Amino acid sequence: MKYLVQAFTGGFHDCRVTAERLLERIRCADDLLDTEGVILGWSFDRSLYQPALEELHKRGKRGYLWLPVFSEVSGAAKSVPAVDYNGNPHAAAKVIQGEDFTFVCPSNPVNIENVQKIYRERFDGFAFDGVFLDKIRFSSFGNGFSPAMGCFCESCRQRYQKAGIDSAELKERMNRKDKSFLLPYKQENGRYLFTDILINKFYKERSAVITDAVKELADFFHRLGLQVGLDVYAPLFSYFVGQDVEALSRSADFIKPMIYRVTDAPAGIPYEAGCMEREFRGNGCEFAGVLEKLWHTADLCSAVSLQYQLKALSNVHCPLYTGFEINAKPDICHTNPDYIRQTVEVLKSQGAEQAVLSWDILSDTRNHLELLAQGGK
Ligand SMILES: [Zn+2]
Repeated sequence: MKYLVQAFTGGFHDCRVTAERLLERIRCADDLLDTEGVILGWSFDRSLYQPALEELHKRGKRGYLWLPVFSEVSGAAKSVPAVDYNGNPHAAAKVIQGEDFTFVCPSNPVNIENVQKIYRERFDGFAFDGVFLDKIRFSSFGNGFSPAMGCFCESCRQRYQKAGIDSAELKERMNRKDKSFLLPYKQENGRYLFTDILINKFYKERSAVITDAVKELADFFHRLGLQVGLDVYAPLFSYFVGQDVEALSRSADFIKPMIYRVTDAPAGIPYEAGCMEREFRGNGCEFAGVLEKLWHTADLCSAVSLQYQLKALSNVHCPLYTGFEINAKPDICHTNPDYIRQTVEVLKSQGAEQAVLSWDILSDTRNHLELLAQGGK
């Protein structure tokens, strides 16, 4: 199994690592495992990247700049917030230290230009081999019910209108007490289908908004000669945050679904499933058991669930690197040797040849890396 590893250097204005420590961790991972490279970012501390990239290139490995797209940026550039169907800016989901889960509107050109601007002003001139785009999505149910419905700003409403979606009708639906029209009845490769035609069209257009924005950014980075990797939600939830993974994969050189089965934070399966259930229940709709039924498993965090989700991703158009947790973090990430062993077994049984070790080898992960190394280089 070949690996890419992630190293979280801190938020834009929050450097949490020294260049020495970063180098030490990169060497440790590469000495133990067959790594292809490192995804590192997104602190603005420029002293980190050159030594890391030199070391990687000396070893024949690639360095990808980890860059958040539709959240985090508000702290670094003047951005246009996403607004809910009542006209309120989206609330944040604040769970991981140093990360900001406030989402901006993905259809507004200012927000897309901001990502290009941040790259040019802060990271240009380094020898990165590619970028890794994270947070390419709408708010999830972790941000609350109305943010999870997506953006209803002027620019998004225009998109909906062009797709034949009447915004007034949509708003009327969203303000109904009984929201069972939002329950999907079927899923096909992670795309959910709804009996309510308006909702079906709406979810389709939401994902088109994200696909178009990501394509524009991917084109920008490709023109600079950089490869583009994408961070996407697990198929269980990707469509609910506006990600049509198959469509997104057409713009990417590789794609990493976050199949985080032991993470109690955004993108983690236990966290997102719990938030969905809670938010639907608070809004006149019972969601418990819906995903389990559509994915034919009693436990969304099980090894079987991982298998089904890998199958759902078999239609992507670029190499797939499944992301799983290598680091443990108190109260947030409960990874352990059995979990890691089981995940690798399932990946191998499904013919996977590569994975991403997420999301931070700067945490104390040495034991887990050694465990993987025992499985053979
Ligand atoms: Zn919008």
